Amino acid sequence: MAEKKILLQEREIPKAWYNVLPDLPGSLPPELHPGTKKPLVPEDLLPIFPMACIEQEMSPQHRIDIPEEVLKVYTQYRPTPLRRAYRLEEAIGTSAKIYYKDESLSPPGSHKPNTAVAQAYYNKKEGVKRLATETGAGQWGSALAFACRMFGLECTIYMVGISYDQKPYRRFLAQSWGAEMFRSPSNRTEFGKKTRKEDPDCLGSLGIAISEAIEDAATHEDTKYSIGSVVNHVLLHQTIVGLEVEKQLDKVGEKPDIMIGCVGGGSNFSGFFLPFLPRKLAGENIRFIAVEPTACPSLTRGPYRYDFGDTAGTGPVVKMFTLGHSFVPPPIHAGGLRYHGDAPILCHLLKLGLIEAQAYHQKEVFDAALLFTQTEGFLPAPETAHATKAVIEEAKKAKPGTVIVFNHSGHGYFDLGAYDTYFRGKLEDYAYPQEKIEEALKSLPEVEEV
Ligand SMILES: *Cc1c(COP(=O)(O)O)cnc(C)c1O
Repeated sequence: MAEKKILLQEREIPKAWYNVLPDLPGSLPPELHPGTKKPLVPEDLLPIFPMACIEQEMSPQHRIDIPEEVLKVYTQYRPTPLRRAYRLEEAIGTSAKIYYKDESLSPPGSHKPNTAVAQAYYNKKEGVKRLATETGAGQWGSALAFACRMFGLECTIYMVGISYDQKPYRRFLAQSWGAEMFRSPSNRTEFGKKTRKEDPDCLGSLGIAISEAIEDAATHEDTKYSIGSVVNHVLLHQTIVGLEVEKQLDKVGEKPDIMIGCVGGGSNFSGFFLPFLPRKLAGENIRFIAVEPTACPSLTRGPYRYDFGDTAGTGPVVKMFTLGHSFVPPPIHAGGLRYHGDAPILCHLLKLGLIEAQAYHQKEVFDAALLFTQTEGFLPAPETAHATKAVIEEAKKAKPGTVIVFNHSGHGYFDLGAYDTYFRGKLEDYAYPQEKIEEALKSLPEVEEV
């Protein structure tokens, strides 16, 4: 019986990812080398990524087959359900139809293993023994720890110091899957040691943790680096989400009018809507809405410029809507939405007017999260709740019968501390100041644009 169920499930999972690169209108600005500022060539990326992912980063193919071994791990939690939110609709009093894709049901509790599993597989296949990465609040770290465990790889995670101390539960989860965790800045890397020497009480930042993980990978023959969002191959792996949604909506005879997702680096939203982009390019009337916090408003208020992807300036230089790589995120509770830029593919589509972006304050976002929890029962991650808020606003003004679909990117069971802060009335709203944006833009890299 169990065998049969697994086989049935496997039949429902798409067998290839959708690669948007050949379908993109206009030309996507190339990624540049941080030193020379010339377009990257595959060799530049080999010390940190496996060849298969580098090829996917630049692939001209429309469909890329999902390896059998990756499908086997996907089958442990995919296909994820697409549900109609009847009770939420009723509570809002809307005659729009609301559907949500539930990515919170993976073992780590978010969409992130969709790419972690693929990356772990390709590294294993190319003889890599260990993966190094950074994590903030721990969503990405725990997803990679799970993926490495599935393929017998070692996993080293540099976790932002303050989260390591204050948000230990995802660290314990990653440790349960066998990952070794270091409080960043650590004593394991030259960059970490230097940072600690300059500031012994340093609480860390995502930028410092990225620099440590990249240094670890670049200085060990058997180790590569793994990234959880932003880059093209991560968005590619996440298209499994949207491809499933396509099949699931077909089954109930629906077509989406509005598709909504929250955006940190852009991977869950892109994976969710990109498979539907060809419909829009063919003239269908369909809206794609990206939602971000007012505290980190890269898509809604950042200029479209070349910038470093990481704080240390060691990674590729990419064109994106950015708050500047020296952006210091305010302490809001959606830790996963605090990146200074966004995926280049997503930014290109925003520039072309093919997607829209909206920003919300965290209090109204938690109000939305609570309404969703009290109607649908599932408690969203604070990141996810940004999408939920936008869904509620769109549903209120939608014409009868409008089909709104959103990506429920993760659960909030490790974020109950943030809910507690909200219940106690201690949550603060924050709009990122314009002076800070302008100041950070002074430190953008000098790039000759063609
Ligand atoms: C990491 C994370 C995000 C933000 O990352 P994207 O790359 O923009 O998807 C959103 N939701 C959850 C639950 C996350 O863990």
